[in-house]
Amino acid sequence: MQKNNSTTVVRELPGKGRCLFATQRAAPGDTVLSEAPIMVSLPSDAPALFALLEELHRAAPFACGHVRSHFAAICTLSQPPPVYAAVMDKGAPRGERERLQHEVARCARAAAKLLPGADFSDLAQLICGWEFNGFPADGGALVLYDRVSTAAHSCDPNVEVVVLFELENAAAAARAVEAEPAAGGDLVFDDEERAAYERYLKSAGAPPVRKGDVFDSRYAGLEFRALRAVAPGDEIVFSYCLTAEDLKRDFRRRRKVLNLRHWSFTCYCDRCVAESRAFLRDARGVREDDEGASSSDDASDAPAALAAVACDFEDY
Ligand SMILES: [Zn+2]
Repeated sequence: MQKNNSTTVVRELPGKGRCLFATQRAAPGDTVLSEAPIMVSLPSDAPALFALLEELHRAAPFACGHVRSHFAAICTLSQPPPVYAAVMDKGAPRGERERLQHEVARCARAAAKLLPGADFSDLAQLICGWEFNGFPADGGALVLYDRVSTAAHSCDPNVEVVVLFELENAAAAARAVEAEPAAGGDLVFDDEERAAYERYLKSAGAPPVRKGDVFDSRYAGLEFRALRAVAPGDEIVFSYCLTAEDLKRDFRRRRKVLNLRHWSFTCYCDRCVAESRAFLRDARGVREDDEGASSSDDASDAPAALAAVACDFEDY
């Protein structure tokens, strides 16, 4: 399903890390990127391991507040090398890996009983890869994507995330099978539908899907759809967790909601920076006609000053 990958490119931005950029023009509503997951982690794949991690989490809660990333990371240990490498390659805020050392050691000791001989030396990096790049899905699943996870958060997003269900194609293929029982396997559907259908049969080991079947989240893909016109060279940004209602609030509220939802960064998107500068200017009592003078005061541009605005309003 990686059909639209030529429409984007990943580039390194100083101080921000890897980010996603458009290489083609898109009109509102156009697909900017659609992707199938690199890996899907479902608790039902290894129930004993999931139960074990829940027990550890109950005894002494993990820093991230849930067991999904730890579970997915341990499941990654048995993945083929390209999948393992892709998870290892995912970014995380500085210092997060070190912060996890204690709980990683606890997990490795406990999980070694279920997975004798497994090498847990990369576990902290794998947990970070999942925690900061995985998308939650139905059934307690976490889903990891290649390009989608490189796009940064913004409070002024230019794309929205749409969940795709690849099985819609498989369902159409299944209906085609049922409609032509005498065709002897000479099915009429295109390569994409055929591949989706074959993947479904192989993975699920189940009879062809029927109308009303509930699809497993492992077949979901994600799509970025343009909210406004996107030009080549534009950074592609989306809202990590802020709802349309949240996005109507001011930058202090937005930063607080991000933090409440376990995103530890302070948002410096263009909108947050503009709003916090205006806020600082107002707080200092600078009149409109003095604005020229205040813009030479570079303290108002310093990230520390902008971040301090959020910290100063804990009760907001
Ligand atoms: Zn922001």
